Amino acid sequence: MLQGKIAIVTGSTSGIGLGIATALAAEGCGILLNGFGDKAEIERIKKKLGDEHKVRVAYSPADMTKPADIRGMVKLAVDELGGADILVNNAGIQHVAPVVDFPEDRWDAVIAINLSAAFHAAKAALPHMTQKGWGRIINIASAHGLVASGEKVAYVTAKHGLVGMTKVIAIEAANSGVTCNAICPGWVLTPLVQKQIEARAAAQGIPYQQAHDDLLREKQPMLQYTTPEKIGGLAVFLCSEAASTMTGTALSIDGGWVAQ
Ligand code: NAD
Repeated sequence: MLQGKIAIVTGSTSGIGLGIATALAAEGCGILLNGFGDKAEIERIKKKLGDEHKVRVAYSPADMTKPADIRGMVKLAVDELGGADILVNNAGIQHVAPVVDFPEDRWDAVIAINLSAAFHAAKAALPHMTQKGWGRIINIASAHGLVASGEKVAYVTAKHGLVGMTKVIAIEAANSGVTCNAICPGWVLTPLVQKQIEARAAAQGIPYQQAHDDLLREKQPMLQYTTPEKIGGLAVFLCSEAASTMTGTALSIDGGWVAQ
């Protein structure tokens, strides 16, 4: 269905990004992987995606805190794979602390990776999309792009900003064949959330399983985690013809978190 399209997925060496890259590859997209991690493991992911789905896969080590790296990542997709048709801004980090204790360097890092990187990537990729008269920008926001929780000031600020950015890009690109939407997941059991469960278990002196269950109960009516595969499925839908007039939306996939 997406045969011949090229997708850049930031932060796709792990978790949700890897789920989205896999779902897009299964539809025939060439993939530009990005993110940190063990060299051999990244090589293994690259080969597996290429072999299983018969698509071209390249890797950019771009650091999402560095605008020049981000521009280089888009250029690499165009030069090595032949385009930048789909951009999934997914790379993200978390830091949990009250405002008064929140380290300034963590504020700067969360805003750079979770918010500013999406601006730099969209700025670099949009001209390639409008030139072809087709493109998709998908921003991985969060339930925290729509509602807040305590002790996540940088993350909530970045994700609300990302939902705003999504609307601006959607309006500007409205008649160019390019759509821009945000996906707002609730809890997904990835390394990012694993760390929060471990920290919670340690802080409260409770078993891991209890912290795992409490995390869900506190926010989500549906007591199960969303998976990277389900988010990949939603991203594929946003790239389909059926979604060609959907733009500027923030789509929840959150077990009812923000319905409350
Ligand atoms: P993860 O930790 O499994 O993956 C994060 C990815 O981002 C990794 O590939 C990592 O290498 C990459 N990354 C981190 N810093 C980077 C940098 N400076 N430059 C380039 N790549 C960098 O996390 P995840 O849970 O899969 O999160 C992916 C996205 O989904 C994030 O934006 C996160 O905020 C969002 N999200 C996650 C959840 C959840 O419950 N896990 C919920 C809502 C939204």
